Amino acid sequence: MASSNRVDLGGNPIKPITICMIGAGGFIGSHLCEKLMAETPHKVLALDVYNDKIKHLLEPDTLPWADRIQFHRLNIKNDSRLESLIRMADLTINLAAICTPADYNTRPLDTIYSNFIDAIPVVKYCSGNNKRLIHFSTCEVYGKTIGSFLPKDSPLRQDPSYYVLSEDTSPCIFGPIEKQRWSYACAKQLIERLIYAEGAENGLDFTIVRPFNWIGPRMDFIPGIDGPSEGVPRVLACFSNNLLRREPLKLVDGGQSQRTFVYIKDAIEAVLLMIENPSRSNGQIFNVGNPNNEVTVKQLAEMMTEVYAKVSGEPSLETPTIDISSEEFYGVGYDDSDKRIPDMTIINRQLGMMLCLISFHISLRLRLLATSIELHNLPQVGTRRRPS
Ligand code: UDP
Repeated sequence: MASSNRVDLGGNPIKPITICMIGAGGFIGSHLCEKLMAETPHKVLALDVYNDKIKHLLEPDTLPWADRIQFHRLNIKNDSRLESLIRMADLTINLAAICTPADYNTRPLDTIYSNFIDAIPVVKYCSGNNKRLIHFSTCEVYGKTIGSFLPKDSPLRQDPSYYVLSEDTSPCIFGPIEKQRWSYACAKQLIERLIYAEGAENGLDFTIVRPFNWIGPRMDFIPGIDGPSEGVPRVLACFSNNLLRREPLKLVDGGQSQRTFVYIKDAIEAVLLMIENPSRSNGQIFNVGNPNNEVTVKQLAEMMTEVYAKVSGEPSLETPTIDISSEEFYGVGYDDSDKRIPDMTIINRQLGMMLCLISFHISLRLRLLATSIELHNLPQVGTRRRPS
């Protein structure tokens, strides 16, 4: 229930604010809108090209929060309403981005435009109108770990200082230009630097968020069901699609890359703390992830196969996974991040997130189970069906 008696981390009452949320119709935006409507008194101006993922929050107009959420269908690339909507709000949250690796090397221009060029006016309007900005970046800005350049058998690979990713000390290591995978990371890094410079020179109040593999319902799409049949979503949706179609899960280059996954609802807790604690969040760059949930992509495939067999009651395939080269799967110009473990020191210090992550931490297996049940039942869109 939305409460007006909310207090911040310093114990001070929180005043209701208006939030201009750009990209509110996506995976993260839809969960953030749900949280804001259900648990806070804040208003949301929800901007996006699509609203399928937040339809349940917009209709019918008898919903208890109906007067606190307004959808504006617009593309920030070319809509003159953007500045006035930012001016109407106390805070702007920018979530709009192309952030699917299959696009980085096949649609490099769209990737660079959406992550850098199109975000520039948002930064300028916030800075020029003295409005606070929370900008969603990515853990991909770190690129490869220093450890990945060490010999495979080097004991230094076990030393966290060679792989843990820290906001204020880690370098950002990208591959060569023809590996267009890194165009995304580079565009995101440059917009971070622009925001930082607006803060330093013009006093912009900003917070930058670097999500580390947030997962959950409504993430990406199932090809041919609620997205293009030739499309390649991120790994969770790829594997879910394979499982639904009873196909082997494809392990790119053997599935040796490692990721730490965090459930979307845990991550959204962190974002709400940022929204409601500006004095602890302004001027900060925050990693948001769960360092304790690390798996290789191969292990993820095994877990998902096991969880899916439990949920569906169908036995697993005799050959549940197959190896595929990255060039065959993604095309020329793909490259990979080897390992992503977030250093959580800054967010713990500023927002006490470690406590939240421990108390909200349920094992990855259980979270995958929840996601798998939702994907299996496909409950979000009535027209979805199991692939034939
Ligand atoms: N991957 C895979 N099979 C798939 C899809 C992805 O092995 O069907 C791998 C991909 O090469 C990468 C990891 O899974 O190593 C995570 O990819 P994702 O697209 O989720 O995004 P990323 O974490 O790289 O940004």
